Amino acid sequence: MAETFTFQAEIQQLLDILIHSLYTERDIFLRELISNASDALNRVQFELLTNHDVQDADAELAIEIKANEEAGTLTISDSGIGMTKDDLANNLGVIARSGAKAFIEAAKQASNGSSAAQDVIGQFGVGFYSVFMVASKVRVVSRSYKKDEPVYAWESTGGQTYEIEPAEREARGTDIIITLKEDMKEFLQEWKIKDIIRRHSDYIAFPIYVGESDEAVNKQTAIWRQDPKEVTDEQYNDFYKMLTMDWEAPLHRIHMRADVPLQFYALLYIPSSAERNILNPRKEQGLKLYARKVLIQEYAKDLLPEYLQFVQGVVDSEDLPLNVNRESVQANKIMANLKKTITGKVLSELKRLAQKNKDEYLKIYAQFGRFIKQGVAVAPTDRTDVEPLLFFPTSTSANPGDLFSLEDYTGRMVSGQDDIYYIIGEDFHSATRSPHLDAFRQRGIEVLYFVDPVDPFMLMGLDAFKGHKLRNVDEADIDLSSIGEAKADEKPVKESLAEDTFETLQKHFKDLLGDRVKEVRASKTLTGSPARLVSDESGASRQMYRINRLLDKDYELPVKTLELNPRHPLMHNLSQMLASTPDNPLIKVVEEQVFETALLQDGIHPDPAAMADRLTLLMEAATGTQSSELDFDDAQ
Ligand code: ADP
Repeated sequence: MAETFTFQAEIQQLLDILIHSLYTERDIFLRELISNASDALNRVQFELLTNHDVQDADAELAIEIKANEEAGTLTISDSGIGMTKDDLANNLGVIARSGAKAFIEAAKQASNGSSAAQDVIGQFGVGFYSVFMVASKVRVVSRSYKKDEPVYAWESTGGQTYEIEPAEREARGTDIIITLKEDMKEFLQEWKIKDIIRRHSDYIAFPIYVGESDEAVNKQTAIWRQDPKEVTDEQYNDFYKMLTMDWEAPLHRIHMRADVPLQFYALLYIPSSAERNILNPRKEQGLKLYARKVLIQEYAKDLLPEYLQFVQGVVDSEDLPLNVNRESVQANKIMANLKKTITGKVLSELKRLAQKNKDEYLKIYAQFGRFIKQGVAVAPTDRTDVEPLLFFPTSTSANPGDLFSLEDYTGRMVSGQDDIYYIIGEDFHSATRSPHLDAFRQRGIEVLYFVDPVDPFMLMGLDAFKGHKLRNVDEADIDLSSIGEAKADEKPVKESLAEDTFETLQKHFKDLLGDRVKEVRASKTLTGSPARLVSDESGASRQMYRINRLLDKDYELPVKTLELNPRHPLMHNLSQMLASTPDNPLIKVVEEQVFETALLQDGIHPDPAAMADRLTLLMEAATGTQSSELDFDDAQ
């Protein structure tokens, strides 16, 4: 007796789109079914190696395709892992592929539904269900690799339901029996089937037989074992899409073959976007690991360090034992060696790109730079290989999109410069306006802009580059007097305040700010800005505040030294007010604002909106309201 089941709602939508679409390249259905058959064969191959109780252990691992002209059916058979009754219902009744989900979303968003969807079908891995583009009915008959499991058939016409009933099939494996739609009979022609296989499935590792012939149609060379010269871009990209279910072509690929110390093949890809990687992943991260063409691990996470897990692909080792016992010392040693070689290759390939084809590299960096920077902090042993991969905006360009390497920077250092200077900021434009840059600008010294939220984290592993120390421009003891040559000030500045006048001002600031600043002192470096905050804490601890903020943790504001510019007109005005009307409440309001502006400019003001009342008061004063009429209660 047949039981009737209802498809998950999303599958109904998917089927509806596939059946009604006018998509012309319908032959992709064959590629999808062959890929499923190949996966099923891979999985049974693994069972055969690790489990002694497999149904029909001697059956040839192969795919067979037969057309029946009279019945109008095309049958794709494999001797793979097969499906039990439960497998049929679970695998062919709910959506497994994230590509299919994304496809439905894209189709829903297109205003005219299916007709817009037809443009994108080929780009999405819609899997098994693509068969309904050509089929009026599909019957799947399967015998599981598990012994003594009864055989069942799954059948559907692509409506809202499917049926499952007991059936017959002698040996292990699966038949997909497709009743072709009237206008799809062309797929009964053997030459057509063979042509599709050669174009899209040539690299499938198992023989594909068509009709009565016992000669395989496909080359059967796994794509990663082929000579790169013989593989077309289309084949590489097809394979990538199959592997990752990403419907966009990758940004870059690395096809490698190594002979010493280990013999292996690897085909690695860098996806088109980091987001895609997160939204639309393979079920987990990790490379697909084969041992002599046999798939032994679907998600091998031990072949690349954590920070390079965005790389997708396949590794096929000649040295790993087939029944890879994960605990075995031998296997572990080989895995460690593979990881070292593959990591080295990925890093050197990225470095080559960064140097030879910066534009292409920067596309990768825009997506995965965050991970690469993370590598600096978490993988000290890879540091010298990762350093050439780092690029930053700097003070040499007004365009935030212009990025430079550390090598670019050191090549441009001015006479007498030995350290590398950087500023940490919220974003490019606020970094540009920072008072810390006054002195650097005046002397023509370039400053790196670390304006990515992960940069402070990266700095934990980057204290120097090629012997040049990295120093934050807000370090208290930076002395630029012997570096470069000072240009004349751009803005005319006043004479420095007399020492005792400045001392009075300094004391007034300190009394007001109390423990919020470590000290108040005169700045030697400021030109156009009235004040800045400097810090004499050492490396890691000075970044902690930002890192904790990034991690959303509570953290106390760091206590810094406030430097005032004794030549700035604002300081002159304040001094005069202090001398003539020391009780004028505006003085404190201005001093408070000088301090908070410095916090803001460093991107560490905990609550910028709180300055609004004070700023309004200051604007009132500036536009003529007498201080005796102002309400100072909210301003301090
Ligand atoms: P995907 O292959 O991405 O998982 P599909 O919709 O193409 O998605 O297939 C759904 C599931 O059906 C597969 O994951 C697999 O478990 C099962 N399946 C499909 N074809 C076969 C087959 N020929 N042999 C065994 N299982 C299969």
